[in-house]
Amino acid sequence: MTRHYNFCAGPAALPTAVLERAQREMLDYQGRGLSVMEMSHRSDEFIAIAKQAEADLRELMAIPDNYRVLFLQGGASMQFAMLPMNLLGRGGSANFIQTGIWGKKALAEAKRLGFDCHVAGESESNGHTEVPPRSSLSVNDDAAYLHYTANETIGGLEFDYTPTCSRADGVEVPLVCDMSSSILSGPTSVADFGIIYAGAQKNIGPAGLTLVIVREDLLGNAVAKTPTLFDYQALAEAESMVNTPPTYAWYLSGLVFDWLKNDVGGLKAMDALNQRKADKLYRAIDESGFYSNPIARHNRSRMNVPFVLADSALDKAFLSEAEAAGLLNLKGHRSVGGMRASLYNAVPEAAVDALIAFMHDFEQRKG
Ligand code: PMP
Repeated sequence: MTRHYNFCAGPAALPTAVLERAQREMLDYQGRGLSVMEMSHRSDEFIAIAKQAEADLRELMAIPDNYRVLFLQGGASMQFAMLPMNLLGRGGSANFIQTGIWGKKALAEAKRLGFDCHVAGESESNGHTEVPPRSSLSVNDDAAYLHYTANETIGGLEFDYTPTCSRADGVEVPLVCDMSSSILSGPTSVADFGIIYAGAQKNIGPAGLTLVIVREDLLGNAVAKTPTLFDYQALAEAESMVNTPPTYAWYLSGLVFDWLKNDVGGLKAMDALNQRKADKLYRAIDESGFYSNPIARHNRSRMNVPFVLADSALDKAFLSEAEAAGLLNLKGHRSVGGMRASLYNAVPEAAVDALIAFMHDFEQRKG
């Protein structure tokens, strides 16, 4: 069996050690004689798995006690709708910092539902190559929350600061962060946020699970007639089990948290490794003269590295030769073209070394 290096933006590479453990536990989970997939979500066995996963995540991210962790479905995209429905029940407007495609979708969904929306900052004017400076951000007078995308997965643009913001009347606006493609890539100061949310299929686990970390004072503000399954308060009260949760994805994510804690050594160690991987690849791109990345250095994403070849006519050959060399999923997003190497937590440093060696060799032959 060969496991190739997988640079997919999501669903993305999972740690081999996690998949091996899941394989060992697949048919007979810890002597219970059944698979986790076959357990009732209300059984003692599954409740123990669910609670352990949450405890490990809380420890990894140092999540304060006044935050609830919800294990939901619907993807990060469902949060685009759930956020305004849950946070604007007492009026006010949704504020957004727009730095790329995902932030744009979040704003479009809130608008589609008829909520009052305001753009508090944007990077459209520089082609999404640099995030707006903190000094340029401006929330409006009735801002109920400020939404931003910590790492724009398609453009490869990452915030290098946390855009906490106050209204003119001095009220600090709850910060809501789409952390889908950067959660767990390093330490996060959770107390700076009102809500952090993320689809699982990049740094957490398999697709089908969505994490929402919500400060307790933000619960209970949903607009009238919010469906129960969209209501954070109802979901929190039922410990994410209003209905059947995605049990296997929850279990597998728990294995990833365990791996981060015990194999990697926590988020500081993960942070250092991710920095080293990204630095190497950007250095190889910058030194080449054949590959390029347009993003301002201080906002270059550590998780998603888009790059283009000097001659796009070579794109096809690059991708097919890369695949033959065991380097998978390097094609850029369909909306932007070019290449993209996603370097999530589970992508080993050896994968980055192999990619750099391949890029160098390709340039020597075709550049
Ligand atoms: N936000 C970001 C930053 C993403 O990268 C993605 C998916 N690539 C989404 C939202 C949408 O996630 P989902 O497919 O889970 O709805």
